[in-house]
This record gives sequence, structure tokens and C-alpha cells, in this order.
Amino acid sequence: MTTEHNPSALAIPPRRILLGPGPSMVHPRVYEAIGRPLVGHLDPLFLELMTQMQQRLRQVFCTENQLTVAISGTGSAGMEAALVNLVEPGDEVLVCVNGVFGNRMSDIVGRVGGMLHRIDRPWGEVFDPQEIQEALDRSPATRVVAIVHAETSTGAWQPLVDIGRICRERDCLLLVDAVTSLAGVELRIDDWWIDACYSGTQKCLSCPPGLAPLTFGPRAVDKLQHRQTKVASWYLDLTLIQQYWSERQRLYHHTAPISMNYALHEALALVLEEGLESRYERHRLHSRALMAGLAELGFAPAAQQGHRLPVLNAVWVPEGIDEAQVRRRLLDEYNIEIGGGLGELAGKVWRVGLMGESARRDNVHSLLMALGELLTSTTDSAEGTAALDAARAVYVS
Ligand SMILES: *Cc1c(COP(=O)(O)O)cnc(C)c1O
Repeated sequence: MTTEHNPSALAIPPRRILLGPGPSMVHPRVYEAIGRPLVGHLDPLFLELMTQMQQRLRQVFCTENQLTVAISGTGSAGMEAALVNLVEPGDEVLVCVNGVFGNRMSDIVGRVGGMLHRIDRPWGEVFDPQEIQEALDRSPATRVVAIVHAETSTGAWQPLVDIGRICRERDCLLLVDAVTSLAGVELRIDDWWIDACYSGTQKCLSCPPGLAPLTFGPRAVDKLQHRQTKVASWYLDLTLIQQYWSERQRLYHHTAPISMNYALHEALALVLEEGLESRYERHRLHSRALMAGLAELGFAPAAQQGHRLPVLNAVWVPEGIDEAQVRRRLLDEYNIEIGGGLGELAGKVWRVGLMGESARRDNVHSLLMALGELLTSTTDSAEGTAALDAARAVYVS
């Protein structure tokens, strides 16, 4: 029966293989956690869970930052929280834009009244620390540098440590978007001199969307404490939110999304049980296998060489393929979701996410097999087999 004639089927979605730019697949233990009975947001049991969650978040962020919390809302709420708290009207902010999410940060800086300095890189490329240095030379009063670690719209992987050093030397804060990188590729808040960072739950943490892990280091907290103006957003005001997350105070601010916090708490346990290094290695392995298979099918990587994310594999769609139709058939006939291009890359690239639970050999296999079948009209069917062989070669090597 189709959903058209059976409205209740909409409420019982199929089990998709989620290989898009997020959400990623969810482990049964996380689904189980989200269905646990509610307690109040000030219940001692819940407060204990928050404390544990903060410890787990610090481990995953590789930080000792006291102010490490889960903001209510998706990754964009984390982005807005970071900017609205660190930027006051008139503050000079340098935003590095090489895709959709740098653009979004620029937009928010304007909304909070910051004075925007923006540098751009072609989509798919990353920034050289030298460019940041020069931009800061041009605008020495810059107080915050904002940059995306893993640009999900292009698959570009931005190195950060040298930029962190430059920001420290210039006494400006480094704010990093780690929505797609946290728990998928290496990220070291303290060692890389990152002052503020946010993420989201539905990418490499493999949790449903709904929370935004956020961490502020001592220099960011100092800025927060010495603001001349109130934070423009009441809901995202960290001076208030930290009173709820602080073990000494536990002051009600807004009702925490209890069930989402259960889910994230469990998802973080899974990350730590696996171990960060093994988890990064797992993402690299499956990405190598996937890209080897896709190459056989005629798909070339779209992001800058040497800076390609294993968790978000962007590839050029070859001429002659109706990319939207193939993606639709992948979904309808194979239950597989992959992402199309965003913005200037719309219609030109595919974005294959291998994030968290989605980064599994059977998923790589299923996608290559499905594409082999779907593309036989435009490519030689032997290429489907060659794609699987190429992936297998990576696994056995
Ligand atoms: C997904 C994403 C966001 C936005 O997160 P939402 O959960 O969609 O609000 C921000 N930055 C990057 C790099 C992302 O990949």
C-alpha cells in the first residue's frame, strides 16, 4: 500500500540508509535512550546526567573547558549561540567563507550588529593561515575569527592549529564550527588554541538532531563576562544558561529537552567506548573504500586534494547523469539517502556522508551496488562490479 492511501504509514518511516550530509544513522542504544521515562529538568537524576554529559563532552572535544554544555536546538543554534555571545554591536569579526556555513556565520554576525570582515575562498578549497594573518593585518582591531572545520557543503577539511596560534598571538578569539567534524575527524580544542566551538548531534555523533554541543574556553568566558551590552538573544544567553549547567547553581532557565539529552548522553558513551582514535580511523577507512569504488563509476572528488573530509565525500557528477533522478531512485528503490549539491554546487556534486553509525562497510557496499545497477544505462555494467572490487581491495589491504 502506498502512503497516499495509508496515512498512518507516514508515521512509520522505512529504515533508510542515511548517507547524506546528516542526519546520520542512529544506534539502537540511542533510540532506546530517547524512549526512557521523562523526569523533570531539575530532578537530581537529570542533573547527575547533565554532569556526566559535560564530562563526556569535554573528552570528545579534547578540552578541560568548564563551560561545556549542550545548547537546546540544532547545530545552527550552536552557531548562533556562539556568535551572539561573543560578538557585541560594533565588534570586528573576521569570517572565513568557503561554503554555505561560513556564509551563514557572516549573516549572523550582521544580525547581531558586528562589523563584518569577510575573506572568501572558492568552494571546495581551504584557507591558508597566511590569508588569516594578512586579513588581521588589514583589520588589527578584529576580536573574533570564525571558521568552519568541516565544510559540509563542499567536503573541505580545514586545518586549524596554525590559525589558532595566529589568533592567540593577535589576542583575538578563534571560533570554530565543528558541526560535521566532532567525533568524526580529529579535533583538539585545547591543543589547537580554539576559544569557542560548537557542534550538532546528527552528524558524526549519530544522534537525532536537537542539541548543539558547545564549549567556551577561558578567553571566551572572559569576553562573556566583560560584555558592555546584554546578549541580544534571551534564549541563547550563555550568562544565563551557564547558571543552569553550573553544578553549584542549577538555576532554571528553560526546560531542557530531556529526551534529547538522554540520547546525546548515550551517543557520547558509544563514542568513548569506541575511542576517538579508532573512530577517526574507521571514518578514514570507509571513506577510502567508498572513494575507490566511486572512482570506478566515474566520480571524481570535488574538494581540494589533501583536504578532503572522510566524513563528507563530495564528488563531481559526470555529464549525462540525471543526478536528481538517480538520487530519487536510490531513495525509492534502495532506501538510500545521499545529498545533492548546495548553493553554487547544486546539480553538480553529490555529497555522500559517512558519519558515525553510517560509516560501515555494509553501507558502502550497498551504495556502490545500487549505483552500479542504477547507472548501467549510462555506464558499462562491468563498472558496477569493478566498483565493488575497488572497495574490497581497500578493505583487505
Ligand atoms: C549541519 C551543519 C550546520 C547546521 O546544523 P543544523 O543542525 O542543520 O542546524 C552548521 N555547520 C555545519 C558545518 C554543518 O554541517
